[in-house]
Amino acid sequence: MSTNYGITFKNIRKIYLMLSKISLFSILLLYFSFVSVDATFLNKVGATDKNDYITVIMYHRFGESRFPSTNVTLEQFESHLEFISQGDYTVAPLLEIIETLQSGGEVNDKTVAITIDDAYLSVYTEAWPRLKEYGFPFTIFIATDPVDNNLRNYMDWDQIRELQDNGVIIGSQTKSHPHMHRLSPIKIEQEISLSNNRFLQETGQYPKLFAYPYGEYSLDVVRAVKEAGFIAAFGQNSGVLFAEDNMFELPRFAFNENYGSIERLKLALDGKPLRVKDITPQNMVLKENPPLYGFTVDESLTPISQLRCFSGEFGQLNVEILGPRVEIRLPGMMKGPRSRINCTMPAENGRWRWYGRQFLTK
Ligand SMILES: [Zn+2]
Repeated sequence: MSTNYGITFKNIRKIYLMLSKISLFSILLLYFSFVSVDATFLNKVGATDKNDYITVIMYHRFGESRFPSTNVTLEQFESHLEFISQGDYTVAPLLEIIETLQSGGEVNDKTVAITIDDAYLSVYTEAWPRLKEYGFPFTIFIATDPVDNNLRNYMDWDQIRELQDNGVIIGSQTKSHPHMHRLSPIKIEQEISLSNNRFLQETGQYPKLFAYPYGEYSLDVVRAVKEAGFIAAFGQNSGVLFAEDNMFELPRFAFNENYGSIERLKLALDGKPLRVKDITPQNMVLKENPPLYGFTVDESLTPISQLRCFSGEFGQLNVEILGPRVEIRLPGMMKGPRSRINCTMPAENGRWRWYGRQFLTK
């Protein structure tokens, strides 16, 4: 479940190293040229958004430093909660927000929802008491097998029911937490229906929200999740979700020990949606590698020339812009089993629009 946020930070470090090599005078020159570029540029950044977007953040484990790629330290988590509570953010229950957006309603600017995947015991022992202190609602996504099998370091159903009785939303992450896109259609359907039966038995209801294990899905998986009656499903690609998004491919910003800084949190929480549609290829499981990746950006977002795309493997990518259409061509094949491309565009007041997409090569 390790994640790769190849974007911006690497580049910032590069710029920093570059700056440290040139003289103070040129740094000053550079500084002022940035300032003036910024000022003209701010006037140009357009689009007053409808408030139909939210940032969803995700965690797995708390204070379990043996697993740094899925863990945040308690110190990190506490600093996140404190930062959120001090800022102009609204922490709201995910199910309620999704229902509001689906019925055409709006939410506050900088609304955030907290999600936690995999039902680890540290959710109950470490995260919940801290979230309770701040009165922050949250959603947990559970695969039922580890709970049914009483695996060590997982919550049991009594603990999960206790969370539910205290307003925590329980979402599904299937039965056995498989790589869903590698399963046959029958197996996909079973993963969903068998876990739904367990949720009904243990919590008295079917979950309405779904999170794809590892953030991986194919068009078949999406279809099965829809047909099972879920109202929305989440991946693990970063981005800010908005009402016109595909409700079964929703983004989340993942946090862990390596990618858990307050700067990154602020970037996510202050994020705005990069409103795109007509995404090709539709299936994140690649038939062609590299993919001919493209999408159409909402024309209200300007200037589109400021759009930048990055991949963990290739860094900044070559982007071709034809009107509102964006076509991205990679210099080579995607090699990792999971590969992400993040695109950003500046918004007003130093904020950023985000759209991230994940591709699966096998
Ligand atoms: Zn998971």
